[in-house]
Amino acid sequence: MTADPHLVTLDSGACLFKEGDPGDRAFIIESGAVEVWRGAGTAGAARIAQLVAGEVIGEMALIDRLPRTATVVAREQTCLRVITCDHYDQHYRQADPLIRLMLRGLLQRHRSSVAARDETSDVSETMQLDRDQVMQRLRMEQDLRQALARDELVLHFQPIVAVRDGTTAGYEALIRWRSPERGMVPPGVFIPIAEQSELIVDIGRWALRAAGGALARCSRAASARSAPLFLTINVSGRQIDSVTLVDDVAAGLAASAGHGRLKLEITESLLMKDVTAGTAMVQRLKSLGAQLAIDDFGTGYSSLNYLHRLQPDCLKVDRSFVKDLESDAGSSRVLQAIKGIATGFDLETVVEGVETPEQAARVHDLGFDYIQGYLYSRPLPEADAIAVTSRKWTAS
Ligand code: C2E
Ligand code: CA
Ligand code: CA
Repeated sequence: MTADPHLVTLDSGACLFKEGDPGDRAFIIESGAVEVWRGAGTAGAARIAQLVAGEVIGEMALIDRLPRTATVVAREQTCLRVITCDHYDQHYRQADPLIRLMLRGLLQRHRSSVAARDETSDVSETMQLDRDQVMQRLRMEQDLRQALARDELVLHFQPIVAVRDGTTAGYEALIRWRSPERGMVPPGVFIPIAEQSELIVDIGRWALRAAGGALARCSRAASARSAPLFLTINVSGRQIDSVTLVDDVAAGLAASAGHGRLKLEITESLLMKDVTAGTAMVQRLKSLGAQLAIDDFGTGYSSLNYLHRLQPDCLKVDRSFVKDLESDAGSSRVLQAIKGIATGFDLETVVEGVETPEQAARVHDLGFDYIQGYLYSRPLPEADAIAVTSRKWTAS
């Protein structure tokens, strides 16, 4: 039988490590007990702790890689499980930068109090990076919270064009932050930060109400239209998990005052996280009168079974399939297959990110229902979006 390299067994009185040794491993005591000594072997030797099964020893030096500041001796037959540098580093890198910063701060404070020194210790490169990242994130999150209160968030609306006749069929509401200090901030910068906290739920609530109001105003301006306008709005993972989503969607629908159709855009990976809970939530939202669009379709793990269970109203085909449409036959085949799925499930289709007349022509030929892309329009402020409710778009 080969000995387990991750276990250390010590007889009573044996030394695990000495003061001054390199801090290359930590241990969890599986059985037995150890004593921790400072100044071992000198006249002033003092026992500073006794640790028993379940406790951790040697972690300080592993965290900051400084030499051991105490000597550890087994008090009886003791078995310890080893935590190696590599193992610790893997977990450390994956940890939240805020937690890393707090851990290092706590350790530094502890070290200076034990050593009774009042000197500022070296700040390692990783710690400086963590500090910068945490500061930037905290500042952005705090500013964003204020932005919400100060009404600095705004929705822009990107027209979604009907392939059949080139009319404006609806819009996607896309959030922007009009910051007095930072200028117009795109969602790719601040939404991921908001998603790391409950702030996204508050932002999502605001966006749903704002979208409902905008849908009512756009629809009133387009009263001569035969088909109702639709407005799609993005929903994040944390919003789906939040207990207030149903109320927030109900508030959005109330703000639309029965005008048009409000669609919630949710990515398939979010819905796939917990299909049972997702299905129940989607059914509640649909019973309120909201519709469901699967965003970025084809980029995640597309299970046909979940399409059957969720019964969405619309598939939004990701831009990545359109980008190389002219040069790559594979992209065209993927689009064709997606259209086949949508037809089979009787779903509307929107193709995103169309930038050239050639791409639009191919999307037209493949039989998709709607196009959204810079070819027709970038996202517009509300007044400009209202101005194009009755516009006929041409692909040139
Ligand atoms: P998304 O949901 O995939 O939104 C489409 C993004 O593609 C938008 O970027 C849009 O401006 C851009 N786009 C549209 N047509 C074209 C095109 O032809 N070419 C190219 N290159 N891009 C095009 P935007 O507005 O920067 O939004 C980025 C992402 O931020 C969105 O991706 C969405 O995930 C998120 N987001 C935006 N608004 C909200 C919101 O209110 N709530 C949440 N949770 N997320 C939002
Ligand atoms: Ca979207
Ligand atoms: Ca999308």
